[in-house]
Amino acid sequence: IITSYSDAEDNINVVVRVRPLSKKEIKSGDDSVVQFPGNGQVLVDGIPGGPSGGQKPKLFSYNVVFEPAATQEDVLQFSGMKRLIEMAVEGFRCTCFCYGQTGSGKTHTLTGPPGLVIDLLNPGSARKPLAVRWSKKARGFFVENLFTVDCEEFDDLMAVLEEGMRNRSVGRHNMNDYSSRSHTILCVHITSEEPAEGGVFISRTGKINFVDLAGSEMTKKTQSEGKTLEEANNINKSLMVLGYCISSLSDSKKKPTHIPYRDSKLTKLLADSLAGNGVTLMIACISPARSNISETLNTLRYAARAKKI
Ligand code: ADP
Ligand code: MG
Repeated sequence: IITSYSDAEDNINVVVRVRPLSKKEIKSGDDSVVQFPGNGQVLVDGIPGGPSGGQKPKLFSYNVVFEPAATQEDVLQFSGMKRLIEMAVEGFRCTCFCYGQTGSGKTHTLTGPPGLVIDLLNPGSARKPLAVRWSKKARGFFVENLFTVDCEEFDDLMAVLEEGMRNRSVGRHNMNDYSSRSHTILCVHITSEEPAEGGVFISRTGKINFVDLAGSEMTKKTQSEGKTLEEANNINKSLMVLGYCISSLSDSKKKPTHIPYRDSKLTKLLADSLAGNGVTLMIACISPARSNISETLNTLRYAARAKKI
């Protein structure tokens, strides 16, 4: 249920997770169009002829592929997520983001079975967008007036996450609709202290961004108008810029390349993690269902472009 091409040990790793067919899909006779030849590969069925001539089956390769039967624990163990957390504890800045169409399992993967930049921890301010500014002093981008919470224990962190998730749904009738049109970032700063000689402590601060991206289907189709259309265009752009930054970063190992962080708010915020010596993990989430085949192919292409294996 898990196959890998190579251990997820590079700075940028791309894994794919395929969710199971849902009860509803099974009931409506939808079937799976993805197969798993092994070695981190995903094979998507061809589309039979028709006026547009159909499509041949397509084969893609990634660091690791998680088949529908893989559990949350499997993803934690084998996606490289553990290494990402270890590196953050050592003081590196890391990012894990989930990409995919609405309903493909992004939130499930990041937060687990049902159990967040408007500022979700400061709902008083929550209805107005926060500014992303450049700090000369810190030489990095930051969110102005963002609420932060000190956590001593793991439970404190979970409480913060839960509050953020609750606030995310406030004022919205349909949470899935909201989450499909917004990026959610949980940014965890980790300070660790290690005793050193002479009774002093060496303190290190690392960071992990957990990013639940807006539904990628917005990049193409939207029947919406007005504000929603504007939102869709922003999402469209930020996902495109993110993909472009990641693939430029992969290329920049071979030759110096300009990375266009400044082209979207999202990439400004992730710039220090993406550019640093930390690890970036992209989890591309897909549905196996035939009815989603074109979105699935889009996601697999986006993920393959992010890192050519
Ligand atoms: P997204 O955040 O990409 O819109 P969700 O994470 O909300 O998608 O997943 C859509 C539905 O599929 C949810 O009901 C979720 O519980 C279910 N689901 C997603 N991934 C899995 C999985 N790996 N195993 C079981 N159910 C899943
Ligand atoms: Mg979601």
